[in-house]
Parts: sequence; C-alpha cells; structure tokens
Amino acid sequence: MQAFKRVVGGAKHTGGVIVSLGKAFCVVCGAEDELTKERLCVPCFKERTKLSILSETIQGFRCPKCMMYLHSGRWGHHESEEYHEGLVQEALEVEGRTEALGIGIMSEEIDERNTRLSVQVTGYIDDIEFEDIHTSIARISNSVCPTCTRKAGNYFEATVQLRSSGRKLTEDELTSLRTTFDTYIESIDPDPMFFINNEGNVTGGYDMVLGSKALARGWTKHLLRRFGGTSKETNSVVGRKDGEDVTRLTISYRKPAFNLGDVIRKQGRYWQIHAWQKDGALISSIDRQERTGLTWRDLEKTIVVSQASEHLEVEILKRDSSAVDFMDPNDWKVRTVSLPYDDDGSQGSLHIALIADEWVALPRTAGGDVSE
Ligand SMILES: [Zn+2]
Ligand SMILES: [Zn+2]
Repeated sequence: MQAFKRVVGGAKHTGGVIVSLGKAFCVVCGAEDELTKERLCVPCFKERTKLSILSETIQGFRCPKCMMYLHSGRWGHHESEEYHEGLVQEALEVEGRTEALGIGIMSEEIDERNTRLSVQVTGYIDDIEFEDIHTSIARISNSVCPTCTRKAGNYFEATVQLRSSGRKLTEDELTSLRTTFDTYIESIDPDPMFFINNEGNVTGGYDMVLGSKALARGWTKHLLRRFGGTSKETNSVVGRKDGEDVTRLTISYRKPAFNLGDVIRKQGRYWQIHAWQKDGALISSIDRQERTGLTWRDLEKTIVVSQASEHLEVEILKRDSSAVDFMDPNDWKVRTVSLPYDDDGSQGSLHIALIADEWVALPRTAGGDVSE
C-alpha cells in the first residue's frame, strides 16, 4: 500500500486521561471507565467529537493560457502535488482544541482535471488520540488569470522605445539591450502586470509594449545604469475611467552612440569613454593620465574614431624603452607602435586600436569595464 505523504507533522504525545476514582462515571452511558475532562468515557467522547471535516470535492483553478494556479487568492506557478496540498490545507476544518495535528495525503490522478486525494488527519483533543481518513476529489477548473485576460484584451500601460543618439543601433546592440529585459524581470518580484504586450523592430529602433508603467520605468533605469544615455517620458491621456484620466506612458530611451572603451577625439587629442555618469560620460586621455567629464550634449557632437569592439590584444614580440614590435593580425606583418604612457616594462601584451589608419597602444587604466 502506498504511504501517506506527510504534509503537517504531529509530535507523538502520551495521553493523560484522568483515571476515575470509585464514584466517577460517564455522564452519558454511566460507564465507570477512564473519563475525559468533560466527564465522558473515551467511546462517548469520540462519538461526540469530530477531529476534522473535509468536503467531498475541493475546487481549484488553473489558467489554461499560462498554467498558473490560483491559491489563497493569488496566481502563481505550482507543482500539481504541492498545489493539492495547499488546497487541502485551505479546505480542511480542524477542531479548535486539536494538538499535535498531522496531515498526510495520498493522491491518485483520475484524469487531467480530477485527482482523488486520501487525506489522513491525526491529532489529540483533550489528550485523546483521534484519526480521520477523508476521501476527496480535487477538481481543477479553467479560469483565465488577470494577466492573460489583460493580454487578450490588448491591455498595456507603457511603451519603451529603444533608440540611439548619433548613429543607428546595430543588430548586436539591439539584442544586448533587449536581453537586459529578461535578466531585469527575473531579478525583481513578480507581478501579474509585468508582461510584454507586444514588441518588435520599428524604424530607428525597437519598441517594447508593456503591461505596467512601473516595469517600464524600472527597466529604463537599468538601461541607463548599464549603457548610459538619456530617457524622456511622455504621458498621453487615452480615456477616462471612474472619473480619472487613463494615461499611457511612453519612454524614449536613447543609448549613446558610444560604448565604454570607445576612442573619441576631443580638442585634437584622443580619449576613451571610461564610465557613465548621470549627465554624461567620464573620459580618460590616451596620451597621459587625465580624466574629464563630457555632457550628453558634448557627446552628441563627438565622433567615435575607434570602437572598443574593434580593439585588439596583441603579443609583444620585441620591446625597447619607447616602442614595441607586434604582428598585425590583418596582414601578418610586423609593425612598431609607441608604448602607452602607463607601461611599466612588464607587460607581455598590448591593447591596441586602429585610429586614422595607424595603430595606437592604449593605456591599461582607460576604462572598458562595465560596472553596475
Ligand atoms: Zn460513555
Ligand atoms: Zn494566465
């Protein structure tokens, strides 16, 4: 025989029945036996006391679209066995004085929607041990959850427009922006409104249509921290409900046309994007140890002369006090490049960028890390 799966444990307990002394007798049947606090013999007490009640059917609900279950007024993902246990605990009525309650459940699937549950309930009431075995059918009915109802009704609250400033975003850049949505949503508390209504390429970028304004704002903040850039919010009134304006939020996120580590030209010198700041970028000079800030406005007027993704790490073949030889991987010819200002003579390799058709060695200290 299959064993009951114990879902609520009951500690063993030794009975402390009052032993009658001569005159005491059961007030119902007159037996001069062991009596309970209510002056009943054990059989009469058991006949008049019910440890637990469980209805013959227990109703559960599952959304046919997303397979979430409704439990204690909340929708969520559950294993079906765990869900049955939850339903039993919700539906089971237990005598208020019960101590050391134990619940064990055996389940047997009848069909996709119905499961026969044998529920063993044990416990002590007034130190008398009780045990019930209930048989109940857990019936799972379809009910479309609020999230799926809203999705089906084309409900949305906000649009996040992924755009760029300065140049068109590459396919790779769009993919990396979009990927952060999945990691972001996994990192926050779930909410039925946190869903994507629609998404796709549009002229000049990518649009994400979302169920919640809070989600749109949260993700945008995440993008700003990770990639820099600017965002602008626009609210539009789309109707009225219960005397209040119903608004939709549009956030236009502009990723700068730069990545950390990109080389730009400013006042005749070369600089690398070192870090993102709230109002722009921190840049560090390539030719000496120097850092300065650039606003988004400044950046928009700036051109990338060498993208970080095109920089190379090359092995040093020969070095002297001011220059090194390396093999150019494009044509396998040996070339010479001046050492960066922060070279300490110990490096076996160099980070180089092709700037205006010439290889330039980049300092080690100059950015390139994504920090969050
Ligand atoms: Zn009795
Ligand atoms: Zn659903």
